[in-house]
Amino acid sequence: MILTPERQTADQSSIGSKRQKYFVSRKEMVTIRCRTCGRMETFPVAELQGKRHVMRVECACAQTFEVALEFRQDYRKKTEIDASFRALSTPRARARQCVIADHSEGGLMLRITDEVPIKQNDRLIVCYRPDSDAPHEIERIISVRHHDRGNRIGGAFIDIHPQTQPAIPATNAVLH
Ligand SMILES: [Zn+2]
Repeated sequence: MILTPERQTADQSSIGSKRQKYFVSRKEMVTIRCRTCGRMETFPVAELQGKRHVMRVECACAQTFEVALEFRQDYRKKTEIDASFRALSTPRARARQCVIADHSEGGLMLRITDEVPIKQNDRLIVCYRPDSDAPHEIERIISVRHHDRGNRIGGAFIDIHPQTQPAIPATNAVLH
């Protein structure tokens, strides 16, 4: 397979609808699979700068297709952290228990056992120790992105925590 940057601007291409999307892993490698013949090949993509690239792939089977590469800022880390959560208006004493099942710079996935009346975009305060030996619990506010009733809550941080988040560089100030 040959991987080259797509010259056409994204989304104007006639084959854009067939475009595959890949998230570049922490190792900055991406494994691309041809849907026609099933060949797979891994490419190093660390030298590609920026967040998103559209690349043209020419497969040995003569199929040509596009892939969009997204560089994840947000690597999720599996965790098992006891936590509590509550709505903004709920007193702390009535917080419910949960487990933080994964954690990233951008948000949290909470594992819950009770059905709770939550809907998308609700704001929750999550209280936990970021590390098992951390001296204090911290509170972060998330906005609910998805909710699997009685099972999971996925949320994105909407606060900026001074201890865990460095100042946002100017280049990242525009959200995509
Ligand atoms: Zn192929």
